[in-house]
Amino acid sequence: MDAKATRTGDPSDGLGYAQGALDRRSDLRADAAAIAALRERPDARALALSREVAILRAGSDRATLPRGEAEALGAPVEEAFLGLDAEGPVFVFGLPDDALDLVEDPDPGALIDRRKLVVPGRSDLAAVDLRALAQRGLTNPAEVGIAAQGKALVGWHRRHRFCANCGAPTKAADAGWRRDCAACGAQHFPRTDPVVIMLATRGGRCLLGRQARFPVGMYSALAGFMEPGETVEQAVRRELGEEAGVACGAVRYHSSQPWPFPANLMIGCFAEALDDRLTVDGKELEDARWFGRDEIAAMLEGRHPGGLTPPGPIAIAHRLLSVWAAGGA
Ligand SMILES: [Zn+2]
Repeated sequence: MDAKATRTGDPSDGLGYAQGALDRRSDLRADAAAIAALRERPDARALALSREVAILRAGSDRATLPRGEAEALGAPVEEAFLGLDAEGPVFVFGLPDDALDLVEDPDPGALIDRRKLVVPGRSDLAAVDLRALAQRGLTNPAEVGIAAQGKALVGWHRRHRFCANCGAPTKAADAGWRRDCAACGAQHFPRTDPVVIMLATRGGRCLLGRQARFPVGMYSALAGFMEPGETVEQAVRRELGEEAGVACGAVRYHSSQPWPFPANLMIGCFAEALDDRLTVDGKELEDARWFGRDEIAAMLEGRHPGGLTPPGPIAIAHRLLSVWAAGGA
């Protein structure tokens, strides 16, 4: 698919995982015969996931494989119908962990502590973490969106094998979009967890912080999970107060981004700080401070004199900073 076909004019255009272009056809999910017929079509393809990474053809711009190739890697433990695009129906297969081997890798940049995941005996296939998939632009953006949809859904199935109401085992239904409990009759639906991520601004400055786990020198917009009974605006004000001691007034929504680690929706906002005082909590954040527009521009352009960096261009924090630095907030 032409990547441009997924552009909608939304403020989230171009962000990683935000450009899924499938027609999800939720009307077909309850029709098992229709789903089975789609699965058997010669143009059907599948996102093959094992250990939360995608298995794709080395050098391909696709995250998906022809359905038969994905099936040849092992019988899926979880399966769902994701939707249709111009090329055909798309499914996700959650494969057993042993579809991949963890092998030594002398490359210091290797995925996991100098080891990497490989498909045993298949040098034509690569196992790619979804962060790398988006950051390195390995596949076209629409396929990155498919990967995010599939990973979040398979991860939900894996973590919801038992009924949260009565504890009995649950069974997948509705083409992978529901789990049913035969013991108590409860129906369970895939979760998406909302996270607010916000750039607090005051005059010509904006607030960034860093967590201890960030790469050296990286600062980002503050963020936190929404809590039950909160509006987006209330969550933004609460998080800025808790993490940095900053009181905020007006909050404006800007854009959103699916973030499949494991199944979040990032809700990007701008917030007007009421004063400059900061009290960094020292738990969530190890540092936070105000940055001027010139300093943010230098960070975005990779020429900050102190070597400070923002998150990469696939991330919504980068988008908020770019918009603000250009005077658009
Ligand atoms: Zn139950």
